[in-house]
Amino acid sequence: MASLAQLGSKHVAKGVGRLTEMVMTEGKGTYIKTECGRTILDFTCGIGVTNLGHCHPKVTKAAQEQVGTLVHGQVNLGYNKPYLQLIEKLLPVMPHKSLDSFFLWNSGAEAVEASIKLARHATGKQNIIVVQGSYHGRTFGTMALTKSKTIYGAGYAPLMPGVFTTPYPYWHQLGLPHTTSNDDLVENALYRLELLLKQETAPRDTAAILIEPVLGEGGYIPAPKGYLEGLRRICDENGLLLIIDEVQTGFGRTGKYFAIEHYPNVIPDIMVMAKGIANGFPLSGIVSRKELMDKQPAGSQGGTYGGNAVSCAAGVAVQEAFKEEGILENVQARSEELFGMLKELQKDEKIGDCIAEVRGLGLMVGIEFKSPTDRYTPAKGTVPAKMSSRVQNKCLEKDLLTLTTSVYETIRFIPPLNISKEDMAKACDIIKQAITDV
Ligand code: PLP
Repeated sequence: MASLAQLGSKHVAKGVGRLTEMVMTEGKGTYIKTECGRTILDFTCGIGVTNLGHCHPKVTKAAQEQVGTLVHGQVNLGYNKPYLQLIEKLLPVMPHKSLDSFFLWNSGAEAVEASIKLARHATGKQNIIVVQGSYHGRTFGTMALTKSKTIYGAGYAPLMPGVFTTPYPYWHQLGLPHTTSNDDLVENALYRLELLLKQETAPRDTAAILIEPVLGEGGYIPAPKGYLEGLRRICDENGLLLIIDEVQTGFGRTGKYFAIEHYPNVIPDIMVMAKGIANGFPLSGIVSRKELMDKQPAGSQGGTYGGNAVSCAAGVAVQEAFKEEGILENVQARSEELFGMLKELQKDEKIGDCIAEVRGLGLMVGIEFKSPTDRYTPAKGTVPAKMSSRVQNKCLEKDLLTLTTSVYETIRFIPPLNISKEDMAKACDIIKQAITDV
């Protein structure tokens, strides 16, 4: 009989199950099991979704109980209880008390689109500015907002109109040397944004700037100091809203509940949440000021499954577990271990020469390898081509699942936030060995 993996490669669309030998059958904490009997350390967490590990007991119990109580109640008709209980839990952890009005959906892309709809209603303007390197989803609207890889939007025109792109303060994107100072990168990027706003259509017609506080699919690049503060200033001076997309960075991933807390002077007008909010159950949302949220006509936002009762019950359990289990403290300790090991590798004469940068925040960690053809990151010796996917394959051979990005030669490590010291040490050994082997 054909294995399920064979069935998948024949009957499921291309792009699903890229690692074709892997049919995941079970997940417990930091590990997943596959159909062919492998036990694999999961350093992807479904791209920042299962932040508390697979099948966290408290989350599973809450969802199971909710399944037997109320599965679905259409939110445009009436609240379901866990929806309100979740909002009660979220209110005190918002990065600013002005963020006090919520609307929940299922996926990140839906919530991003909802934030755009809200910004357009609230300002009466149409255009949106995004940064080069952004990723916001794969619906038609969010493909238009995604600039990390042109393939996401290619061949689907016309996408959503009215999207402008501004360069991100990173050396690749500004075409500046790797050694350019942080201040110069920020000044350069903000200057280019101000030039964009001086163009004919943008200043009058722009509703918002949309940005991830750490570029995710764009290469795990945290916003350099001063940049988000500069965006906030420019938004205020030009009457634009600032939308912060915390879909991948939210719920502890960067060592704070939300990544925007690393930039205490930046208060978002709208914040988008998803992924880690319910540890694997489909749930997303936007939060804004009540006064802004109420500018939309009633009924303009909504959807059949948004704010599903089971997902919300799981979300409530996630927020409780965060408090009870000292998750943020663990992120801090394990992040130091992972960064410490990678920074040591960078100092190694041979291996260090292949590494352009080790970067990230908390447990959202990436290594950009040098590329033999990239003039921005010249190596002293020879650097093998396609380092990131080679290292990824080596890690997988050693039972560690990692992710690469679609841009640059970057490999990403996204472990569960409650990973033990022992599992982190085990993964660090595998990563070190895999890079050395390549
Ligand atoms: N925004 C960001 C920053 C993301 O990383 C993602 C998904 O990776 C999305 C939006 C889209 O979320 P979803 O895949 O749930 O639609």
